[in-house]
Amino acid sequence: MLIFNNKADLNKHLESIKAVNTAIGFVPTMGALHQGHLSLLMKSLENNSITVISIFVNPTQFNNPEDLQKYPRTLENDVEKIETISNKIIVYAPTVDDIYEGNTKSQHYNFDGLENQMEGKFRPGHFDGVGTVVKRLFEIVKPTNAYFGEKDFQQLQIVKKLVEKEKIPVNIVGCSIFREKSGLAMSSRNERLSTDEREKATIIYETISKAKVLFGTKSAKKVSEFVTKEFQNNKEFQLEYFEIADEATLLTCIRKNKNKKYRAFIAVFVNKIRLIDTISLN
Ligand code: AMP
Repeated sequence: MLIFNNKADLNKHLESIKAVNTAIGFVPTMGALHQGHLSLLMKSLENNSITVISIFVNPTQFNNPEDLQKYPRTLENDVEKIETISNKIIVYAPTVDDIYEGNTKSQHYNFDGLENQMEGKFRPGHFDGVGTVVKRLFEIVKPTNAYFGEKDFQQLQIVKKLVEKEKIPVNIVGCSIFREKSGLAMSSRNERLSTDEREKATIIYETISKAKVLFGTKSAKKVSEFVTKEFQNNKEFQLEYFEIADEATLLTCIRKNKNKKYRAFIAVFVNKIRLIDTISLN
């Protein structure tokens, strides 16, 4: 399998294997790969003749230095996992300097308000960091299709907005959430949970699944109250936010509108580890 640590070598290689109309599929990740990431790679392999994965823990999207420092970095392991599905996938695992060229700062973006909700509210600057690195990676890899998980639904919408506003010629493909048997959404951060915490963290998916059922008959406010109570009864978990929002604008649902698609979003701390999940309510 080919692993590149710098963009010049990656570009040289891509240029040498690219024919006219070769579709390049791209899966940007921060590593510590799990089956959720692999499901994105599988989708890319199905629809593109070249698949590139980037593994890069992007410093500018972390608002919390401890979270950045503790983020798992497991390149060797990641490469082994990628090889289990194909040895043709190209790995781009750059250094911070290769991406930022000595200026590790994010650009400021206006994503028409998408950046001001949920993750944007609680992680100041996060989406400026995401926008900056994704744009940079798109410039380097020049993909035809890029695959993003619905697990980070707000990020997916923001990347679509970035591409539209910056006129980047790439098709953004949203992929469904890969869950553990217990229902817990797979996440690199799950690795930091103890066995006990991991079992208990199933409350997150259980609660948003109940919220989905309740939303059939109750108002968004009533559903939010139910979720808040569930977490008040579970002291090991600190609910950071629960939101029912319009999928397109990400604005909080005040009054239900039959013509809109809604989604529930949740962020919870378990022993200082931050987990997020989301579920479609339609
Ligand atoms: P990350 O490495 O966490 O930045 O994630 C890289 C990509 O994988 C993002 O597009 C995520 O939304 C996606 N992803 C992460 N976890 C999952 C999952 N459980 N199911 C599907 N996609 C996921």
